[in-house]
Amino acid sequence: MNETPTRVYAEIDLDAVRANVRALRERAPRAELMAVVKANAYGHGALACAKAAQEAGATWIGTATPDEALALRAAGVEGRIMCWLWTPGGPWQAAVEAGIDVSVSGMWALDEVRQAARAAGRTARVQLKADTGLGRAGCQPADWAELVGAAVAAQAEGTVEVTGLWSHFACADEPGHPSIQLQLTAFRDMLAYAEKEGVEPEVRHIANSPATLTLPESHFDLVRCGLAVYGVSPAPELGTPAELGLRPAMTLKASLALVKEVPAGHGVSYGHHYLTEAETTLALVPAGYADGIPRHASGRGPVLVGGKVRRVAGRVAMDQFVVDLDGDPAQAGDEAVIFGDAERGEPTAEDWARAADTIAYEIVTRIGGRVPRVYL
Ligand code: PLP
Repeated sequence: MNETPTRVYAEIDLDAVRANVRALRERAPRAELMAVVKANAYGHGALACAKAAQEAGATWIGTATPDEALALRAAGVEGRIMCWLWTPGGPWQAAVEAGIDVSVSGMWALDEVRQAARAAGRTARVQLKADTGLGRAGCQPADWAELVGAAVAAQAEGTVEVTGLWSHFACADEPGHPSIQLQLTAFRDMLAYAEKEGVEPEVRHIANSPATLTLPESHFDLVRCGLAVYGVSPAPELGTPAELGLRPAMTLKASLALVKEVPAGHGVSYGHHYLTEAETTLALVPAGYADGIPRHASGRGPVLVGGKVRRVAGRVAMDQFVVDLDGDPAQAGDEAVIFGDAERGEPTAEDWARAADTIAYEIVTRIGGRVPRVYL
């Protein structure tokens, strides 16, 4: 895009993405790094972020869905790509043909990938996922022997190469949580079993961003980082992005659509949950919940206008919300920073998460498709 959009737009600083990848690689010096770019790179733009991450040394790209992985490959992303969220009848053959590593948590998936490999006339790269305690995807310990046995048989017939053994943490964002060590123990046991049965994986991995930042013993051969790649802190307890050595990549900006004087006692936005205390200036920010601004942050979300952080006045509507400038002057077209980098005095995605009673993951990821991304 040549011209800066005028309503609301997300500036994406790809230098920050590169710097964050380098910082994370320093945290996990003996491991490779997978940049997780699912959900359009948590709202930051999957293709641009995948390429930037690779430039900074990420040797793997991770997505949830096969469609996300295939789209990246079709757009020219080379090297290792892995995806993990499969349903029966999924595009296994296309993934095998595109050389994408696929996650397998159970027997139905292994059967489908074997058939796809036969149809493609190629060996499928399969990563067996263990449920070490998250209770989500992954093979239960009780079923591991059956899955590993079938994968070893598939390797012998040439349809499958087991490239990875992996798992995912439940509570890595709460350092010291007892489940962390229990999961590590379960993971080591499941690795040992598979390796005893003849599996020789290229990569063993369990660490997400918080584990990469706080738990070196979880790094194994590869760390899978999403949120930290985008310079956002996975949890307030872990520190701010600056404390973690990260730089926020997304700055969400808008141009004020209207500035007007109103008298004291003026109701603002639907439901009149905000009444002006005195004669004041209101500014209209042309971004709403259709753009991913959480309605739950009504009355609380912070916005930088005219060098001061203000709060959303009243409810966030579908396309717009209002801030009270407390009588300070401003004019239509002035810049409002909804979130960006605290180091520049801007509110942050973490601040919005607090205001909306959610996690920063959700704040950046939900910035909608209607919001142009401007790459710096
Ligand atoms: N691995 C898997 C399986 C995931 O689902 C995710 C994201 O939720 C990640 C890694 C990356 O997590 P984070 O964004 O905390 O780094």
